Order: sequence, then C-alpha cells, then structure tokens
Amino acid sequence: MELQSLRLKRHEERRLLGGHLWIYSNEVNTQETPLHMYRAGEQVRVETHNGKLLGIAYVNPQSLICARLVSRGEDVLDRTLVVHRLQQALKLRTQLFDEPYYRLVFGESDLLPGLVVDRFGPHLSVQLNSAGMEAVRDEVLYALKKVITPQSIVLRNDSSIRVLEGLPQGVEVAWGEAPKVVELLENGVIMLAPLHEGQKTGWFYDQRPNRAWLRLFAPGKRVLDVFSYVGGFAIQAAVYGAREVVAVDASRPALEMAEKNAERNGVGKVFSGIEGDAFAVLKGLKADGEHFDVVVVDPPAFIKRKKDHKEGLKAYHRINDLAMQLLHPDGILLAASCSMHLGREELMDVLRSAGQRQGKHVQILMEGMQGPDHPVHPAIPETRYLKAFLARISKG
Ligand code: SAH
Repeated sequence: MELQSLRLKRHEERRLLGGHLWIYSNEVNTQETPLHMYRAGEQVRVETHNGKLLGIAYVNPQSLICARLVSRGEDVLDRTLVVHRLQQALKLRTQLFDEPYYRLVFGESDLLPGLVVDRFGPHLSVQLNSAGMEAVRDEVLYALKKVITPQSIVLRNDSSIRVLEGLPQGVEVAWGEAPKVVELLENGVIMLAPLHEGQKTGWFYDQRPNRAWLRLFAPGKRVLDVFSYVGGFAIQAAVYGAREVVAVDASRPALEMAEKNAERNGVGKVFSGIEGDAFAVLKGLKADGEHFDVVVVDPPAFIKRKKDHKEGLKAYHRINDLAMQLLHPDGILLAASCSMHLGREELMDVLRSAGQRQGKHVQILMEGMQGPDHPVHPAIPETRYLKAFLARISKG
C-alpha cells in the first residue's frame, strides 16, 4: 500500500538529521499535510519542506510527539524490520550477559520507538507504549516468537503513557502460559518478580550495576533499603553478607515478595520489611534513634513532568536529608533518581546541600547510570534517565 507523506516545515529536518527520531507537531507543515489526515499509528513517508525523503515514521496526531522515525530509508516497520531490530537487540544482550535476564528492547535506543521488552528467561514482559507500536502488535508478537521462542509473553499495557497516546490500558497474556511470578538472575543472585501485578514490567533491570556496588559496601553492615520494591538492593546486600537489611516500601505486595526473595536466598533471618510512606517511616526511625551503615534511596520518579520540577526536587532533598541523618559516622548513602527531568548535577547538589545542613563531609565515590541493556541514544537525552551516586558521609 502506498504510504501518505508527512511534510516538515523549512529547517525542521535538522534534529532528525542530527540523529533524533521524534517529530513534534509544531514542526509539521500542516498547510500541506494536516495532521488530521492520519490515523493514530499509521506509517508515513517523512519529507523535508521541499520533498526530500528523511525516512519512515509512525504518526499519532493527538500526541505532542506526533511522529517517530522507524527507519531512515524506505523500510516500513513490518515483520521483517521488527525481526531484524530484535536480532540486533538480542545480539547486544547476549554479548553483555551470560544469562537470559535483561531488558531486551529499550525503545528508541534499539530503534523500536515505544517498545519495551524485559526478558525473564523464557518469559517476556512487553510494553507497547505508543499508538504506532500498538498498530504493529501482531508483527511484534510474531517477531518475538521467531527470535526468542519464548514460553510466554505478557503485555503490560497498563502504563500511564498509553493514556496520553489515546490507548486502552490493561494486562494480558498474549502467548503461552505466563506464571504469576518469574525468577531471574542478577549479579549472581536469584530474584523473584511479579510478572502480572508488579510495577512496570515487574522488575527494574536498570539498577543492576548500581546494586552490584553493595558487594563492596554491604558485608557485615546494617543496610536500609528505602523504596525497596521487591528488595532488589536489600536482598543483594544480604546475599553479599550484610548483618541486617531493612526494606521500606508503601506497597504490601512488594514487601511480601521481598520477604519471599529473602527466604529464596536463605537470608530470611537478616531481613525485615517496614510498610509505609518512606518519609514517615524514616522520621520514625530517626525518632527511635536508629542508625544504619548503608542507606539506599531509590524513589519513584518524583518529577514526572517538567512542571513538577520544583516540588519534585524538594522531595529529593527531603528524603536524602532524612536518609543522611540515619547514617552512622562514615556511613554510605546510595542516592538514585529515575526522573529524566532531574539532572545529575542536581542530584549531586542534593547530597552536597544535605551535607552542608548537617555539617557533614560528603565524598562521592561512585557515579552510576542505567545498565547497558538500557542503552543511551546520544541524540535523545530522555534515554539517559537513571542517575546514582554512592557517597561516604563523615563528620564535618
Ligand atoms: N529500589 C527498587 C525500585 C523502586 S520502585 C528496586 O531496586 O527494584 C519505587 C518503589 O517506591 C515502588 O515499589 C513503590 O511501591 C514505592 N513507593 C512509592 N511511593 C512511596 C512512598 N511514598 N513511600 C514508600 N514507598 C513508596
């Protein structure tokens, strides 16, 4: 079928030529190619103002990012291209990891904009986060079966991004028999994750390299894991030899799974969970005179949209300030942020200013980002979203 064209205004091809994949609606020449001409998810030929082909994109007329490139030539996003992109994605992950537990597809960075696939051995957890990806759902499922031959595929189409794209939300088993809970291996530790009901895809592979820092800092220590989810940091710290680990989360199911993770790894005796709002729990621990050698702070994105920046930044200050107050002298603070709207300098400044307020000396020992199965696209700053600092906090 002949594709329709989408024409850009003069000079608006520059970002695409610079490597980016997104087209904003104000960059389109809507006199010649009005956006209402297109169905959500439809693929189009993207042209410069004078008709030169820039590539093929899928469109969503109701989204601010009204189109995303899927190829820079004539290739449309069909079975063949999805298979090729998946093979490329898989080749990288098998180079990076010995075991099949990783983020297999990280959207734009794997040239599959709007698609996320996490792999738990034979089980796949998939997010179709755009109308364009939803439109090729069958092609994506075909390609996943062909390239991975999985036992099951769960569509975790419950993310809020889908609402912005005008898509329905829901969780669905699209292939095979999907267990409620999957096992994965990370940093040599077996972890259980809830496939259908967990946060996002069920597990946060992005923190893998930063969790591994605890190998060095956890042995013999008392560790507090704030916003623990199912205990990614806490359980790995316990397996690395922590004397005691305490996980804090507002979600009871998450803490129950953390408890199971502790038992699965034979560290149930050193694990405990506290259910509640992290801010209140940390204040309570402080009032009780509790102290820890290591505190991990890995909150949900406090800054979801740019306009939340001021309030969100305050929340990062408050929680890290509390965390720092709970440390023994010469303790370790691991502070993370997954908000793409929070810069690394801002997170570093959160640590600096907490130290200043408390009269403590802050030494940043390690800086981390998301693991390499979440590659960064150098033209798309949003793909570099995770920040983590590990700091020693001493008397000033
Ligand atoms: N550190 C985790 C990931 C954290 S995800 C890991 O390594 O896997 C964020 C977690 O914060 C979720 O589990 C969510 O339930 C929890 N959460 C969100 N708001 C909270 C709050 N105000 N107090 C405590 N936990 C909260």
